[in-house]
Amino acid sequence: MDKLTIRDVDVAGKRVFVRVDFNVPLADGKVSDDSRIRASIPTIATLLNAGARLVLASHLGRPNGKVQDGLRLRPVGLRLTELIRRNVPVTGDALGIGTEDAVKRLRPGELLLLENLRFHPEEEANDPEFAAALAEYADIYVNDAFGTAHRAHASTVGIAKVLPAYAGLLMEREIAMLSKLMEAPVRPFAAILGGAKVSDKIEVIDNLLKRVDLLILGGGMANTFLLAQGKAIGKSLAEPDRVDDARRILATAEKNGVRVVLPVDVIVAKEVTRGTEYKTLPAEKIPASWHIVDLGKASQDLMVGALAGVKTVFWNGPLGVFEIPSFAHGTNAVARMLADRADAGATIVVGGGDSVAAVTKQGLAERMTHISTGGGASLEFLEGRELPGITVLQDRPVPEKKTAARKTAAKKPATAEAAAKKPTTPKSETPA
Ligand code: ADP
Ligand code: MG
Repeated sequence: MDKLTIRDVDVAGKRVFVRVDFNVPLADGKVSDDSRIRASIPTIATLLNAGARLVLASHLGRPNGKVQDGLRLRPVGLRLTELIRRNVPVTGDALGIGTEDAVKRLRPGELLLLENLRFHPEEEANDPEFAAALAEYADIYVNDAFGTAHRAHASTVGIAKVLPAYAGLLMEREIAMLSKLMEAPVRPFAAILGGAKVSDKIEVIDNLLKRVDLLILGGGMANTFLLAQGKAIGKSLAEPDRVDDARRILATAEKNGVRVVLPVDVIVAKEVTRGTEYKTLPAEKIPASWHIVDLGKASQDLMVGALAGVKTVFWNGPLGVFEIPSFAHGTNAVARMLADRADAGATIVVGGGDSVAAVTKQGLAERMTHISTGGGASLEFLEGRELPGITVLQDRPVPEKKTAARKTAAKKPATAEAAAKKPTTPKSETPA
């Protein structure tokens, strides 16, 4: 899945439509977490410095096709203005004469941000006319919105069919990091899955079971696995209708020689709230009135120990109700271990909104190898699915039979010859 990127095109003087993912949390009319905005800056800065005229576009929240004043992109424009120290005007609407004029007036090195695309129902409907109207703004399309790449919308797919479409630098990095997990993970490779619901993660577990050496399960979703093992879990969150899936996953893991680590002890609470009564119990027979809310110390030690030698990790889903500090111990212990592994040279990839929030809260995000900006998108990618927003970007031309030539060059000179013609070899690979 090698896609052309903004490095492969000369954008000087060109108008470039950049689909970014500025779907950030707001609090009191201000951006409360700007990590997604920051993550898009390398692409924006590279294009501006190369003399492009930029039309940035994003969605924010779920306005369902109607203008909602609380979901206007103005606070995002202000934050971006501060971050890149250039004025980022936000148009009053993604469409309309005023916006068209503003786009026409852009000079090289200038940018603007279109108002929330999802104020138009045509965006999520991938309406071809809406996509064509957006395409009118530009000569080139760039997608840097990995977090929305699993959605076939007008600004992620429709427009890319009209304009020459390139990956932004963030998109490129997301694809490279996640592809590495899928194709060439350095072993031992561990997946750590937690979070609320097992139903969201069954497909990703199925696909990862073909690849990992170690599977660590925690959080609410591990409860369904405890049920599958015939254990009592009291009032804990679980999905009894997924017990069969859990059983099947455990059987496949055994067949594939994947070590599975489940909690052996847990913190249970009377209620899933702050300030409630709680204690540690073996993860065997939780009494009827208690909820499992975190890993116990023995589980933490077991999991941290299991991770001791790993070289590659994908982590999605907190291992307890980490929003409540008393129930964040398991999540925090594993996060610290992963930061240490990353410092030691292992590849640690964390995906998922809440998992990333948990890591960031502890100040460990910088130490991880890669923090994915796309929760749902990263899971779909690791399920082995095609993401429509990636598929539609232009493929990098591959010299014909390159890999075949490498494998069989000695035996079949004819193949090597075919490869040597290199009708489409990209510049960087041309021998000096
Ligand atoms: P991510 O956003 O990283 O993909 P999820 O959305 O799947 O993760 O799950 C995160 C949520 O799971 C958090 O809100 C957390 O409180 C919850 N959670 C974790 N463990 C438990 C548990 N034992 N019981 C109930 N909820 C849990
Ligand atoms: Mg979540």
